Amino acid sequence: MYENMKNEILKKGGKIHLNCKVLGIKTKNKKAYSILTDKGEYQADIIVSSAPFREMVCSLDELDKDITDLASKLKFRNTILVYVEADSETKLFEDNWIYVHSPHVQTGRITNFANWTKDLQCGRKENILALEYWANDDEKLWNLSDEELINIAKKDLIDSALLKPQDIKRSFVLKLHKSYPVYERGYKENLNKIYTALDSFSHLYFIGRNGSFKYNNQDHSILMGLACADKILGKAVNLWHINTDYDYQEDSHIPESAANDKR
Ligand SMILES: Cc1cc2nc3c(=O)[nH]c(=O)nc-3n(C[C@H](O)[C@H](O)[C@H](O)COP(=O)(O)OP(=O)(O)OC[C@H]3O[C@@H](n4cnc5c(N)ncnc54)[C@H](O)[C@@H]3O)c2cc1C
Repeated sequence: MYENMKNEILKKGGKIHLNCKVLGIKTKNKKAYSILTDKGEYQADIIVSSAPFREMVCSLDELDKDITDLASKLKFRNTILVYVEADSETKLFEDNWIYVHSPHVQTGRITNFANWTKDLQCGRKENILALEYWANDDEKLWNLSDEELINIAKKDLIDSALLKPQDIKRSFVLKLHKSYPVYERGYKENLNKIYTALDSFSHLYFIGRNGSFKYNNQDHSILMGLACADKILGKAVNLWHINTDYDYQEDSHIPESAANDKR
Protein backbone atom coordinates (compact mmCIF):
# COMPACT_ATOMS: atom_id res chain seq x y z
CA MET A 1 0.00 0.00 0.00
CA TYR A 2 2.72 2.45 1.01
CA GLU A 3 4.79 1.56 -2.06
CA ASN A 4 1.75 2.32 -4.25
CA MET A 5 1.24 5.64 -2.47
CA LYS A 6 4.89 6.48 -3.03
CA ASN A 7 4.68 5.59 -6.74
CA GLU A 8 1.53 7.66 -7.15
CA ILE A 9 3.25 10.70 -5.57
CA LEU A 10 6.32 10.29 -7.79
CA LYS A 11 4.15 9.81 -10.89
CA LYS A 12 2.45 13.13 -10.18
CA GLY A 13 5.82 14.88 -9.91
CA GLY A 14 6.04 14.87 -6.12
CA LYS A 15 9.25 14.35 -4.15
CA ILE A 16 9.75 12.20 -1.07
CA HIS A 17 12.58 13.02 1.34
CA LEU A 18 13.44 10.03 3.51
CA ASN A 19 15.72 10.12 6.57
CA CYS A 20 14.91 13.77 7.01
CA LYS A 21 13.97 14.92 10.51
CA VAL A 22 11.40 17.70 10.73
CA LEU A 23 12.44 20.19 13.42
CA GLY A 24 9.63 22.70 13.19
CA ILE A 25 7.03 24.58 11.21
CA LYS A 26 7.29 28.24 10.14
CA THR A 27 4.33 30.56 9.81
CA LYS A 28 3.77 34.20 8.84
CA ASN A 29 0.57 36.03 9.80
CA LYS A 30 -0.57 32.61 11.04
CA LYS A 31 -0.21 31.05 7.60
CA ALA A 32 2.12 28.03 7.43
CA TYR A 33 4.73 28.37 4.70
CA SER A 34 7.72 26.12 5.37
CA ILE A 35 9.16 23.28 7.41
CA LEU A 36 12.58 23.27 9.00
CA THR A 37 14.44 19.98 8.81
CA ASP A 38 17.89 18.67 9.60
CA LYS A 39 18.50 18.78 5.83
CA GLY A 40 17.36 22.37 5.34
CA GLU A 41 14.18 24.38 4.94
CA TYR A 42 11.37 23.43 2.53
CA GLN A 43 8.74 25.89 1.33
CA ALA A 44 5.18 24.58 1.23
CA ASP A 45 1.70 25.68 0.14
CA ILE A 46 0.06 23.39 2.69
CA ILE A 47 1.59 21.55 5.64
CA VAL A 48 0.06 18.33 6.98
CA SER A 49 2.01 17.12 10.00
CA SER A 50 1.99 13.62 11.47
CA ALA A 51 5.23 14.20 13.42
CA PRO A 52 4.94 14.31 17.24
CA PHE A 53 2.39 16.96 18.17
CA ARG A 54 4.18 18.53 21.15
CA GLU A 55 7.37 19.35 19.23
CA MET A 56 5.55 20.69 16.18
CA VAL A 57 3.15 22.85 18.21
CA CYS A 58 5.97 24.21 20.38
CA SER A 59 7.90 25.18 17.23
CA LEU A 60 5.18 27.65 16.16
CA ASP A 61 6.54 31.14 16.90
CA GLU A 62 3.15 32.79 16.47
CA LEU A 63 1.41 30.67 19.09
CA ASP A 64 0.70 32.36 22.44
CA LYS A 65 3.12 31.37 25.18
CA ASP A 66 0.38 30.04 27.46
CA ILE A 67 -0.59 27.58 24.69
CA THR A 68 2.99 26.43 24.02
CA ASP A 69 3.34 26.00 27.79
CA LEU A 70 0.31 23.70 27.77
CA ALA A 71 1.66 21.79 24.75
CA SER A 72 5.06 21.34 26.36
CA LYS A 73 3.36 19.49 29.23
CA LEU A 74 1.86 16.80 26.97
CA LYS A 75 3.55 13.49 27.63
CA PHE A 76 4.36 10.50 25.46
CA ARG A 77 5.31 7.01 26.58
CA ASN A 78 7.77 4.76 24.76
CA THR A 79 7.53 1.13 23.65
CA ILE A 80 10.32 -1.43 23.57
CA LEU A 81 9.73 -4.47 21.38
CA VAL A 82 11.93 -7.50 21.93
CA TYR A 83 11.49 -9.97 19.08
CA VAL A 84 12.39 -13.56 19.88
CA GLU A 85 12.68 -16.49 17.51
CA ALA A 86 11.37 -19.52 19.39
CA ASP A 87 11.89 -23.10 18.35
CA SER A 88 8.69 -24.71 19.55
CA GLU A 89 6.94 -27.80 18.25
CA THR A 90 3.79 -27.07 20.25
CA LYS A 91 1.46 -24.10 19.90
CA LEU A 92 2.56 -21.65 22.59
CA PHE A 93 -0.89 -20.06 22.99
CA GLU A 94 -4.06 -19.72 20.90
CA ASP A 95 -4.41 -15.95 20.66
CA ASN A 96 -2.68 -13.43 18.41
CA TRP A 97 -1.36 -11.80 21.57
CA ILE A 98 -1.77 -12.18 25.31
CA TYR A 99 -1.68 -9.50 27.99
CA VAL A 100 0.48 -10.36 30.97
CA HIS A 101 -0.53 -9.09 34.39
CA SER A 102 1.80 -11.14 36.55
CA PRO A 103 4.05 -9.05 38.81
CA HIS A 104 6.72 -11.73 38.34
CA VAL A 105 7.49 -10.76 34.74
CA GLN A 106 8.18 -7.34 33.23
CA THR A 107 6.55 -7.71 29.81
CA GLY A 108 3.00 -6.41 29.40
CA ARG A 109 2.03 -8.14 26.17
CA ILE A 110 3.34 -11.04 24.09
CA THR A 111 2.45 -11.39 20.42
CA ASN A 112 2.93 -14.61 18.49
CA PHE A 113 3.03 -13.78 14.79
CA ALA A 114 2.65 -17.47 13.92
CA ASN A 115 -0.96 -17.15 15.14
CA TRP A 116 -1.71 -14.27 12.76
CA THR A 117 -1.00 -16.14 9.56
CA LYS A 118 1.29 -19.04 8.73
CA ASP A 119 2.63 -16.97 5.81
CA LEU A 120 4.57 -14.87 8.30
CA GLN A 121 6.65 -17.94 9.16
CA CYS A 122 7.77 -18.35 5.54
CA GLY A 123 7.45 -22.13 5.81
CA ARG A 124 9.66 -22.35 8.88
CA LYS A 125 8.57 -23.93 12.13
CA GLU A 126 9.97 -21.27 14.46
CA ASN A 127 7.54 -18.84 16.10
CA ILE A 128 8.38 -15.15 16.04
CA LEU A 129 7.31 -13.58 19.31
CA ALA A 130 7.30 -9.90 20.26
CA LEU A 131 7.48 -9.01 23.94
CA GLU A 132 6.38 -5.48 24.72
CA TYR A 133 7.70 -3.22 27.45
CA TRP A 134 6.64 0.36 28.12
CA ALA A 135 8.75 3.08 29.70
CA ASN A 136 9.25 6.83 29.97
CA ASP A 137 12.45 8.51 28.78
CA ASP A 138 13.84 8.80 32.30
CA GLU A 139 13.12 5.20 33.33
CA LYS A 140 15.96 2.73 33.72
CA LEU A 141 14.25 0.22 31.40
CA TRP A 142 14.26 2.67 28.44
CA ASN A 143 18.00 3.22 28.81
CA LEU A 144 19.07 -0.43 28.99
CA SER A 145 21.22 -1.90 26.25
CA ASP A 146 19.76 -4.31 23.69
CA GLU A 147 21.59 -7.16 25.37
CA GLU A 148 20.12 -6.33 28.78
CA LEU A 149 16.62 -6.09 27.29
CA ILE A 150 17.01 -9.42 25.51
CA ASN A 151 18.04 -11.02 28.80
CA ILE A 152 14.90 -9.63 30.49
CA ALA A 153 12.74 -11.01 27.64
CA LYS A 154 14.38 -14.43 27.86
CA LYS A 155 13.85 -14.50 31.63
CA ASP A 156 10.18 -13.50 31.18
CA LEU A 157 9.61 -16.30 28.66
CA ILE A 158 11.26 -18.88 30.89
CA ASP A 159 9.68 -17.65 34.16
CA SER A 160 6.24 -17.68 32.56
CA ALA A 161 6.88 -21.29 31.48
CA LEU A 162 6.20 -20.44 27.83
CA LEU A 163 9.64 -21.55 26.68
CA LYS A 164 12.66 -23.49 27.81
CA PRO A 165 16.09 -21.83 27.52
CA GLN A 166 17.10 -24.11 24.64
CA ASP A 167 13.98 -23.05 22.64
CA ILE A 168 15.15 -19.44 22.37
CA LYS A 169 17.07 -18.63 19.20
CA ARG A 170 17.76 -15.19 17.74
CA SER A 171 16.51 -11.91 19.25
CA PHE A 172 16.14 -8.33 18.07
CA VAL A 173 15.25 -5.11 19.89
CA LEU A 174 13.23 -2.24 18.44
CA LYS A 175 12.70 0.93 20.49
CA LEU A 176 9.72 3.10 19.53
CA HIS A 177 10.15 6.57 20.95
CA LYS A 178 6.95 8.47 21.89
CA SER A 179 4.66 5.68 20.70
CA TYR A 180 1.77 6.45 23.08
CA PRO A 181 0.16 9.82 23.83
CA VAL A 182 -0.44 9.82 27.60
CA TYR A 183 -4.00 10.66 28.60
CA GLU A 184 -3.50 11.96 32.12
CA ARG A 185 -5.93 13.79 34.39
CA GLY A 186 -6.88 17.17 32.90
CA TYR A 187 -5.20 16.52 29.55
CA LYS A 188 -8.41 16.92 27.54
CA GLU A 189 -9.16 20.41 28.77
CA ASN A 190 -5.62 21.54 27.93
CA LEU A 191 -5.66 19.75 24.59
CA ASN A 192 -8.91 21.44 23.57
CA LYS A 193 -7.35 24.84 24.30
CA ILE A 194 -4.40 23.90 22.07
CA TYR A 195 -6.71 22.65 19.29
CA THR A 196 -8.73 25.88 19.43
CA ALA A 197 -5.55 27.97 19.23
CA LEU A 198 -4.31 25.93 16.26
CA ASP A 199 -7.58 26.56 14.41
CA SER A 200 -6.46 30.19 14.03
CA PHE A 201 -3.64 29.03 11.69
CA SER A 202 -4.21 28.43 8.00
CA HIS A 203 -2.60 26.00 5.54
CA LEU A 204 -1.63 23.83 8.51
CA TYR A 205 -3.13 20.48 9.56
CA PHE A 206 -2.24 17.99 12.29
CA ILE A 207 -3.16 14.34 11.73
CA GLY A 208 -2.36 10.86 13.02
CA ARG A 209 -1.79 9.28 16.40
CA ASN A 210 1.17 11.28 17.67
CA GLY A 211 0.64 14.02 15.11
CA SER A 212 -2.63 15.08 16.74
CA PHE A 213 -2.12 13.55 20.19
CA LYS A 214 -4.92 11.03 19.83
CA TYR A 215 -4.68 7.45 21.00
CA ASN A 216 -5.98 6.23 17.63
CA ASN A 217 -5.64 2.89 15.92
CA GLN A 218 -4.35 2.60 12.40
CA ASP A 219 -7.81 2.79 10.79
CA HIS A 220 -8.61 6.10 12.48
CA SER A 221 -5.17 7.46 11.67
CA ILE A 222 -5.75 6.68 7.99
CA LEU A 223 -9.28 8.08 8.18
CA MET A 224 -7.83 11.30 9.56
CA GLY A 225 -5.58 11.56 6.50
CA LEU A 226 -8.54 11.05 4.15
CA ALA A 227 -10.65 13.54 6.08
CA CYS A 228 -7.78 16.03 5.99
CA ALA A 229 -7.72 15.76 2.19
CA ASP A 230 -11.47 16.51 2.23
CA LYS A 231 -10.86 19.53 4.45
CA ILE A 232 -8.14 20.86 2.16
CA LEU A 233 -10.61 20.52 -0.71
CA GLY A 234 -12.98 22.78 1.20
CA LYS A 235 -15.31 20.37 2.99
CA ALA A 236 -16.45 21.17 6.51
CA VAL A 237 -14.59 18.56 8.54
CA ASN A 238 -13.52 18.75 12.17
CA LEU A 239 -10.33 16.69 12.25
CA TRP A 240 -10.06 16.95 16.02
CA HIS A 241 -13.23 14.84 16.32
CA ILE A 242 -11.80 11.74 14.69
CA ASN A 243 -10.76 9.33 17.40
CA THR A 244 -11.71 6.07 19.01
CA ASP A 245 -12.92 7.35 22.34
CA TYR A 246 -16.42 7.90 23.66
CA ASP A 247 -16.98 11.33 22.11
CA TYR A 248 -16.25 10.01 18.66
CA GLN A 249 -18.52 6.97 19.06
CA GLU A 250 -21.42 9.00 20.38
CA ASP A 251 -21.25 12.49 18.95
CA SER A 252 -18.96 12.87 16.02
CA HIS A 253 -19.43 12.65 12.37
CA ILE A 254 -17.13 10.96 9.89
CA PRO A 255 -17.35 12.82 6.60
CA GLU A 256 -19.39 10.73 4.19
CA SER A 257 -16.73 10.78 1.51
CA ALA A 258 -14.07 9.55 3.96
CA ALA A 259 -16.33 6.95 5.57
CA ASN A 260 -17.42 5.49 2.24
CA ASP A 261 -14.06 5.68 0.61
CA LYS A 262 -12.89 2.12 -0.12
CA ARG A 263 -9.52 3.14 -1.59
C1 LIG B 1 3.24 -1.28 19.86
C2 LIG B 1 2.07 -0.78 19.05
C3 LIG B 1 1.09 -1.67 18.64
C4 LIG B 1 0.01 -1.23 17.88
N1 LIG B 1 -0.94 -2.14 17.46
C5 LIG B 1 -1.95 -1.73 16.68
C6 LIG B 1 -2.91 -2.67 16.17
O1 LIG B 1 -2.83 -3.88 16.45
N2 LIG B 1 -3.92 -2.21 15.38
C7 LIG B 1 -4.03 -0.89 15.04
O2 LIG B 1 -4.95 -0.53 14.30
N3 LIG B 1 -3.13 0.03 15.51
C8 LIG B 1 -2.11 -0.36 16.31
N4 LIG B 1 -1.21 0.56 16.78
C9 LIG B 1 -1.42 1.97 16.45
C10 LIG B 1 -0.94 2.31 15.04
O3 LIG B 1 0.40 1.88 14.90
C11 LIG B 1 -1.03 3.82 14.88
O4 LIG B 1 -2.36 4.24 15.09
C12 LIG B 1 -0.60 4.28 13.49
O5 LIG B 1 0.65 3.76 13.13
C13 LIG B 1 -0.52 5.79 13.49
O6 LIG B 1 -0.17 6.23 12.21
P1 LIG B 1 0.52 7.63 12.01
O7 LIG B 1 0.78 7.77 10.55
O8 LIG B 1 -0.26 8.66 12.73
O9 LIG B 1 1.89 7.56 12.83
P2 LIG B 1 3.14 6.61 12.65
O10 LIG B 1 2.78 5.34 11.98
O11 LIG B 1 3.75 6.57 14.02
O12 LIG B 1 4.05 7.45 11.65
C14 LIG B 1 4.68 8.64 12.05
C15 LIG B 1 5.99 8.70 11.30
O13 LIG B 1 6.61 9.96 11.56
C16 LIG B 1 7.99 9.75 11.73
N5 LIG B 1 8.50 10.88 12.52
C17 LIG B 1 8.43 11.08 13.86
N6 LIG B 1 9.01 12.25 14.18
C18 LIG B 1 9.45 12.79 13.02
C19 LIG B 1 10.14 14.00 12.70
N7 LIG B 1 10.48 14.89 13.63
N8 LIG B 1 10.45 14.23 11.40
C20 LIG B 1 10.10 13.34 10.43
N9 LIG B 1 9.44 12.19 10.67
C21 LIG B 1 9.13 11.93 11.95
C22 LIG B 1 8.08 8.42 12.46
O14 LIG B 1 9.36 7.85 12.27
C23 LIG B 1 6.98 7.62 11.74
O15 LIG B 1 7.47 6.99 10.60
C24 LIG B 1 -0.11 0.14 17.54
C25 LIG B 1 0.88 1.04 17.95
C26 LIG B 1 1.96 0.59 18.70
C27 LIG B 1 3.02 1.58 19.11
